[in-house]
Amino acid sequence: MKNIVILGATGSIGTNTLDIVARFPQEFRVIGLTAGSNDEKLEEQIRQFRPAMAALANEAAAARLRDRCADLPVRILAGNEGVTEVAQTAGAEMVISAIVGGAGLVPTLAAIRGGKHIALANKEPMVMAGKLMQEEARKHGVRILPVDSEHSAIFQSLEGHRLDDVKRLILTASGGPLWDFSREQLQTVSPERALQHPNWKMGSKITIDSATLMNKGLEVVEARWLFDIPETKIEVLVHRESIIHSLVEYKDRSMIAQLGLPDMRTPISYAMRYPERMPLELPSLELAEVGKLTFFKPDHDRFPCLGLGYESLRIGGTMPATMNAANEIAVEAFLQGGIRFIDIPDIIRSTMESHVPQSIDSLDHALEADRWAREKAGSLVHSLTR
Ligand code: NDP
Repeated sequence: MKNIVILGATGSIGTNTLDIVARFPQEFRVIGLTAGSNDEKLEEQIRQFRPAMAALANEAAAARLRDRCADLPVRILAGNEGVTEVAQTAGAEMVISAIVGGAGLVPTLAAIRGGKHIALANKEPMVMAGKLMQEEARKHGVRILPVDSEHSAIFQSLEGHRLDDVKRLILTASGGPLWDFSREQLQTVSPERALQHPNWKMGSKITIDSATLMNKGLEVVEARWLFDIPETKIEVLVHRESIIHSLVEYKDRSMIAQLGLPDMRTPISYAMRYPERMPLELPSLELAEVGKLTFFKPDHDRFPCLGLGYESLRIGGTMPATMNAANEIAVEAFLQGGIRFIDIPDIIRSTMESHVPQSIDSLDHALEADRWAREKAGSLVHSLTR
């Protein structure tokens, strides 16, 4: 029986994680759940999984949750501090890190410092402070296991091999909901259309990141720190079917890949139960039914965000954190109808160009870059708001 905490329990990754727990109640005990503001859904989850603690980042929502759960033996905490307290609670062996965005950095780092193994879906903290997170993980004897399907695929393709033998990592990309759109169409695309992903059902922020290809830019940075490999050895390949989840090429030119139908429960369960595999009752991938798989080079003209990911790594220090924060602000503004889809990369690039990068030696350095970039990107959004 493994004691787990789920950060971001009410989201797409959080609910998929709880689906696994519900299927294997003898394997996992949920001792803490957190979310942002969805008190109704968190109450349902508390009633079903009976954690000892729960927290909502939004204080008013936490007060409502306290009322809703008055008949239950659960301690409800409030605010970012409450979420962080649940993340580092004694007794948890593993924390599933599935908050969306930079808000996950402080609680995930607290969990690492508390000695908990991490199943990492929340890629933004790795982008903001990957070096620091890995150093802290080493110091506290903690494993950071990837949940992101591409990184899980790379992790599985590296198992039993030597990092020195790796020639390159190839991250596959679905191309997102707007891959076939012309430059003109991208100028007027609505948030509703950009949210229609062909293969994956995910939260709105990552779905827009998938549409801009910023998701892949973030994943390149995530891969650099997860696997301790320079960006010059990380490539991106568009693969519309999302069947090959990523590949590793070795120096003898062998390629090893991981394949499967797109279902996040497979990589989530692998991280939760590593090194064992769980008997998931999911449909099998029938390659004869798929017939053929297609591959393309990414189009940097229509989707410049991928290049910004590489650029942030080349510059280093606080630049990836700056890029990440500007992206969060721009995506939110697009979803609210304030800016156009094509404004997103412009806002990120302008924010990065105004930034004077510093090295990241502490959490405060990452948080300060994040704060600065949010303010800068916010003013750029303001100047564009229609
Ligand atoms: P969702 O938007 O579906 O869920 C986000 C979760 O985070 C919710 O529980 C939300 O709570 C909580 N949350 C939001 N803001 C805060 C905050 N300020 N403080 C604390 N909690 C907060 O996102 P996804 O599940 O899609 O994605 C989560 C992470 O996993 C992202 O980093 C994403 O990039 C990554 N990921 C997701 C994949 C997927 O298939 N969805 C695949 C690979 C990676 P509430 O409901 O109350 O708002």
